[in-house]
Amino acid sequence: MKLRDEREAVVAHARRMDADGLTVGTSGNLSVRAGDLLAITPSGLPYDQLTPDTVSVVDLEGRPVDAPLRPSSELPMHTAVYRETAATAVVHTHPVFATVLSTLVDELPAIHYIIAHLGGPVRVVPYAPYGTEELARLGVEGLAGRSAVILANHGATTYGADLAQAYTRTEYLEWLCRLYVEARKLGEPRLLDAAQIAAATAAFADYGPQPRA
Ligand SMILES: [Zn+2]
Repeated sequence: MKLRDEREAVVAHARRMDADGLTVGTSGNLSVRAGDLLAITPSGLPYDQLTPDTVSVVDLEGRPVDAPLRPSSELPMHTAVYRETAATAVVHTHPVFATVLSTLVDELPAIHYIIAHLGGPVRVVPYAPYGTEELARLGVEGLAGRSAVILANHGATTYGADLAQAYTRTEYLEWLCRLYVEARKLGEPRLLDAAQIAAATAAFADYGPQPRA
């Protein structure tokens, strides 16, 4: 089987996405790149029926290489992100708070320093029908200098160096959106400025488990 490890990672993260409530029904999709190929969730298959052999393997133009089922309808967005960014994995979901904000604002502002993990304030790009080249183009434009984008009246897309990172970024994004929605219920939230976000970005470079000095 081509890309066995990648297919297994796709299945594991797709099940998690479903269990974590980051999407509903069969919506949402994710992919991981290996060289000139990518493994991506198939279209419309319930997550409890997803197995490594049902995951689609396609090339960077989206042409099927080993795809027993039709690949995700958002394949054009995935291939566009791989072509235009440093992504090795892409996660696309319909999380509640990100989608709520997608109907209300043009940007998720810097409400918390965690947003530095996403590159700063997250853009909301205009609506385009799902699965279209237009949506793929808008999504990639919205990702300029960011690893997350919110799609108006639709959902969110994040990318990372691997599926774990892309997935965690979706979790960060949804948490930040929830924070903003909750804060706005009580008033006008204080925001961080660009220098504060830059300082958080610099601090993150040194964050994580380190050998003891
Ligand atoms: Zn979608």
